[in-house]
This record gives sequence, C-alpha cells and structure tokens, in this order.
Amino acid sequence: MRYVNNPPNPWLSTHHEWIGEPPEARLEVFEETATRSIITNNNSPDIPFDFSVNCYRGCTHGCTYCFSRPTHEYLGFGAGTDFDRKIVVKVRAPELLREELMKKSWKGDVLVFSFTSDPYIPLEANYQLTRRCLEVCLEFRNPISIITKGALIRRDLGLIKQLSEEADAMVHFTIPFLDHDVNRAVEPFAPFPEARFKAMKEFAEAGIEVGLGIAPIIPGLNEHEIPELLERARDAGAKSAFINLLRLPGSVRPYFLERLEEKMPLRAQKIINRIKEVKGGVLNRSGFGERMRGEGPYWDMIVQTFKIHARRLGLNQARYEMKDRRQTFRRPSAQGSLFE
Ligand code: SF4
Repeated sequence: MRYVNNPPNPWLSTHHEWIGEPPEARLEVFEETATRSIITNNNSPDIPFDFSVNCYRGCTHGCTYCFSRPTHEYLGFGAGTDFDRKIVVKVRAPELLREELMKKSWKGDVLVFSFTSDPYIPLEANYQLTRRCLEVCLEFRNPISIITKGALIRRDLGLIKQLSEEADAMVHFTIPFLDHDVNRAVEPFAPFPEARFKAMKEFAEAGIEVGLGIAPIIPGLNEHEIPELLERARDAGAKSAFINLLRLPGSVRPYFLERLEEKMPLRAQKIINRIKEVKGGVLNRSGFGERMRGEGPYWDMIVQTFKIHARRLGLNQARYEMKDRRQTFRRPSAQGSLFE
C-alpha cells in the first residue's frame, strides 16, 4: 500500500502534514472538458522535437525521477503521489486534435506522443484517447513519434503500422533498467523491461522504426547496464538509441531522494555523490544545454561506454529522417476526400 506523500507545493500557501499515518494514495480520475488546445509547442532548444500531444496529466507509472512531476503543482495537486494517482484525462483530446489539424496554420509537422505523461498508461485501455488521436493523425496522414514505457502500445500495432506506411511513425521505448529490484524501486508501476522489449520486437518485426531510450541515466545506479540494454535493444530490432542524464527540477528532487533512501538505503549516498559528481557539485542544473548532460571524467566514461557499445552493435549508424511532412500531410474535405 502507498500512502499520500507530496512535497510542499510552492504555488500553495498551505501544506498538509499528517498526524500519524497518512491516508492511502488512491487512484482518482478527473475528466477535463475545458481543454482549449491539445498540441503543445515546445521551444526548449535541448528537446529534439517541436510539437507534442499529451492526453493525460499525471502518470500512473509513477517513476520517482519523472521531471514532469512539478507540472501537477500548477493544478493545485502535489508532485509526489498525487502525480501518480490523481490523473487528469483530457476527454476531448481527439476532437481538439482534429480541429487543430484542420487549421490552415498547421503544416503537418511530426507530433510526439507524449512528453509530460505516458501515452499508454493503463487508463488508456478504457479511454482510448491516444488511439483515437492516432486515428486522427492517420486521417490527415500526419507523421507521429511515440515515446513510451507502456506495453499497452501493442494494442495499436496495426494502426501505427498503417501510419508508418501512409505518413511516418517511429516508436522509442524507454528502458533504463534491467534489474527488477531497481525497476520496482524507481519505476514502481511501469511494465517490466521484458514487456517493453517484447513490444519493441513486435513493432520492429512489423517494419516500424523502433529505438531505445536509456533515460534517465542515474549515475551509480544504471550505467553498468548500458551494454546489455543496447544488446537487448539490437536483438529486438532497434536501430537507434540515446541516453539522457537524470533531471531533478523543483519538487522532483525531494521526492526522488526520499524514495531512493527508502528503497535503497545502502546505495543512496553513493548514487547522490555520483549525481553531484557529474553535475558540477549540485543535484540539478536547469540551464538549457546542461539539464540532460553531465560533465567531468565520470560522465565522459558513461558517454564513451554508450558510444562504443552502440557502434559495436551497429546502432545509430544512420539518423532516421522522418518523411518530409509535405509528402504526406493532407487535410480531409467535408466529404472525406483528401486535399492539400
Ligand atoms: S512513464 Fe514517463 S511520464 Fe510516466 S512517470 Fe515515468 S517518466 Fe514520467
């Protein structure tokens, strides 16, 4: 059982402290109908895409390191267990997406599912918002890219394959750990790595471009797994892979550290020291260009390990270029036919 545990919300003037045991953190679902826009324009220079679609706020996968946690604080929720258990569902996402793709200003750029939540959390099995948004993309032949830990993506293999043929589609599976104990400690409700590799293999066998995200690298915890993770990804049909360094902005930091000390008390201090070692003596840096990259000999060793093994396994040999949007994007007419 998990108990309510949230760092103080910097946007609120009050904070709950529990006398005795806090209540159980139960799943609560909030259906949001007032959403005005579903496409988010990303203007961070170190994020490699421009537009993303998030059908959910919060994420039941509950990764302790998730840098999206502070987004929940803007809603008046907490960045800890609230982020994992109070899920906002944008029930109008497919309709909104269709409206936005109909606008003349939309030029058919790649849409990334998702950025601040996982598009394949278990709630998606019922709501089917990601699926319906992908159907809209297929209708418009709009290229898509997916980043997920959710094995539920297998449900949509046929649809994504069709998208890859008629527009373009790429799927990155985020798999930063192989060790089950570590996986349960830091990604408590995400599918096990084996389930993600299985999904990756099925997608690759279907002819869909797949890649591996070893994200995040948590120095002192998972860098030794890089070679085997890359090997498993190559065996599952991945052509590319990337790494990102752990980010601990705002309230993520106290939540991550508390969980780390609770779940891995004997390793926690070594991990904290390693994180500081690659971040210039601090636990987080927020500047563009340095947020997801480290510095110093230990970080260089991690990067070299990644590069050497990726090269040995034939990964990242050629950058996958998504099809030019002008080749595929079409706006349907009222009668359902396609025109530019
Ligand atoms: S799956 Fe992604 S969005 Fe969900 S908690 Fe983990 S890191 Fe955050």
